[in-house]
Amino acid sequence: MGYQKQRTLGIIGGMSWESTESYYRLINEGVKNKLGGLHSADLFIHSVEFALINELQEQGMWDELGVLMASSAQRLQAAGVDGLMIASNTMHKLVDDVQAVTHVPLIHIADATTDTIKKHNLTKIALLGTQFTMTQDFYKRRLIDAGLQVLIPEDAARAEVHRIIKKELCVGQFKDSSREYYSQVIKDLAEQGAEGVILGCTEIGLLISQADSVIPIFDTTAIHAEAAVAFLLDAD
Ligand code: GLU
Repeated sequence: MGYQKQRTLGIIGGMSWESTESYYRLINEGVKNKLGGLHSADLFIHSVEFALINELQEQGMWDELGVLMASSAQRLQAAGVDGLMIASNTMHKLVDDVQAVTHVPLIHIADATTDTIKKHNLTKIALLGTQFTMTQDFYKRRLIDAGLQVLIPEDAARAEVHRIIKKELCVGQFKDSSREYYSQVIKDLAEQGAEGVILGCTEIGLLISQADSVIPIFDTTAIHAEAAVAFLLDAD
């Protein structure tokens, strides 16, 4: 098969670049699996300076983060993309800022994840991610409104799950002790009734796989990348 017309995708990435690398690989693999041969994804990545993003998150400066996300989206739109995605669960807190300044669709990571979970007929689901993602409404509310019951770890476990993301996974450290910790947190949530677990941070899939979890995992990076492939290939 020769050339096939695709849509063009814009990815706001670099949050962290460790997981954006996975997105890039998974989306290209997805296109190749569908079309074969030399086919690859038509996309732009704007990779941001993550130290700045992290600093602003810690300071609670979400308005400033909204300006940064909006500016990134505008730059991608000016490059000619047909759709956008934010390659971080946490930064979906700023979806409204992005949508206010763009006219192309945004592939929402929580919506793609909810659709996948529903296909598996699960309703009670554990959520792991940054403190922001686990505790704030911007993400959890979307899952609840879609009919899911959401379980999150207790305070101390949440703090440790968050610490491992920011101090280890986002800087490319993958420790056995942290893998075991996540496994135990998932086991505890399964004992509370969770039927599956959302890896609601785009780096968690770099640390754990299905073999580390007693319940089915839903890796948001893989799910989001799959939604991106469907978007790319749905061109006229
Ligand atoms: N990539 C992570 C996420 O999916 C966390 C990094 C960030 O704070 O953006 O939430």
